[in-house]
Amino acid sequence: MAVYKGPVCKLCRREGVKLFLKGERCLSAKCSLEKKEYPPGQHGQRRIRESEFGKQLREKQKVKRAVFMTEKQFRVFFKEADGEEGPTGANLLIRLETRLDNVVQRFKFASSIKQARQLVLHRHIKVNSAICNIPSYRVKEGDKITIRKKSRKLSLIKENLEENEEAVILEWLKRNSSKFSGKVLREPTREEISLVGGDIKENLIVELYSK
Ligand code: SF4
Repeated sequence: MAVYKGPVCKLCRREGVKLFLKGERCLSAKCSLEKKEYPPGQHGQRRIRESEFGKQLREKQKVKRAVFMTEKQFRVFFKEADGEEGPTGANLLIRLETRLDNVVQRFKFASSIKQARQLVLHRHIKVNSAICNIPSYRVKEGDKITIRKKSRKLSLIKENLEENEEAVILEWLKRNSSKFSGKVLREPTREEISLVGGDIKENLIVELYSK
């Protein structure tokens, strides 16, 4: 299935939670979810009792949509997480959190995951000394993420950095705004997952895929 290209606010309304897909707008009163707290569509305001399967599906969709992945990509991530030592759910979330596009957003080089993905795909980002145009690349401890020299003039990057000069960067990351770079200090813990504000019941996703 292709990546969703429709209005992203509908995704938040469908999942009933802020997925933070539109940068600054998500924190303002313009957020669609603040105005319409019910799912989109003709029957959006109808009350539906959710089955166990429904709850598992919604939880998976919520996380998958927050990282803008296709079902196929998400399943591959799950399979890899399942093959690692430790709890599969936490492994999955750590894998998602350490994707290059997510880290670019966490450094505030981009205002949303979509914008971060564009920066990576359009070859504006370097990992250590090489350009990396793979959004799903998994960063690891010690990696240095840099904006390419010729891309530093881009107004959207400059604006993002200026607007977020004082922003708090996650503890497992360290940003150096003047050098347009950031470093991965270590892998995040489950408690440090910031996707969907960390509000994820990963056991439901594991149950869904274990059927
Ligand atoms: Fe739209 Fe962002 Fe609000 Fe989601 S959180 S509804 S993407 S403005």
